[in-house]
Parts: sequence; C-alpha cells; structure tokens
Amino acid sequence: MKIIKNNYEKEEISERYICEECNSVFEYNDYDISIDADGVESVACPCCNHRCIVSVPVTEKNIEFPKSFYHFGENKGAVKIDNNEITSRIKESIVWLKRHPEEPYRYMGSGDTFLCVFNHEDEYYIMVAKNYFDASIDK
Ligand SMILES: [Zn+2]
Repeated sequence: MKIIKNNYEKEEISERYICEECNSVFEYNDYDISIDADGVESVACPCCNHRCIVSVPVTEKNIEFPKSFYHFGENKGAVKIDNNEITSRIKESIVWLKRHPEEPYRYMGSGDTFLCVFNHEDEYYIMVAKNYFDASIDK
C-alpha cells in the first residue's frame, strides 16, 4: 500500500512535563508512556533519559485529595451541562426511583456536572455539583 495524500488528522492531547532530573521542559503523548507491572506510568526525558513518573495507580493507602482525583469542569474538553438538562435529569431520576423503590440512589456524572438523587425513606435528597472531583480505587 502506498499513501498518495494523507488527510487523516489525529487529535493528540499533549501533556507538558518538567524533568525532575535535568529541569528540561517537554511534551509527551499517550504513546510515549510506559507502564510497569505495578501500573506506574512513566516517560523517558528526551534530554537526559531520566524515567519521569507521570502517574501512579490510586490505592486506599496513597489516595490524596485533590492530587489523586480527576477534576471535572477544569480539565480540557469538559462539556458544560446546562440548567435545563440538569432539571430534566433530576426529574428522570425521581421517575426512575419511583419505579425502583429498592434502589438507594440514582447517580449521573456527565461533563462538568455530578447529580445524585438519594432515595431516603421520606424524601428524595438531591445533590448537584459543578466542577467536582472523582477517583476510583481497584478492589
Ligand atoms: Zn531530563
């Protein structure tokens, strides 16, 4: 096969990093990352070849707020969910909980918005948060 004209545009999101060994500044992409057996992600500094740790798996021992969390609404590409959409999702959640009275809550995380309706004994307790943080830990 021979490519005559390549019109495929790959969207690459680069991360910027300052090497803790030589202080050089470089950018890397997902394909530059190596993952070791413990799930630790690193990239080799293009200047001094130092292994720069870019991500360590979150565990119940090393979890730390806000470092270990993904910050919705602040990160690149976060979709803004408007008030009409949120109101509509709250109403849908209540309808769903009425059909599933045994369920303790109905949760939605979308774009920059977190929504949870708790199914308490005598009320629906509704929480809405913008720019929220989340993290998960493997069991
Ligand atoms: Zn370096």
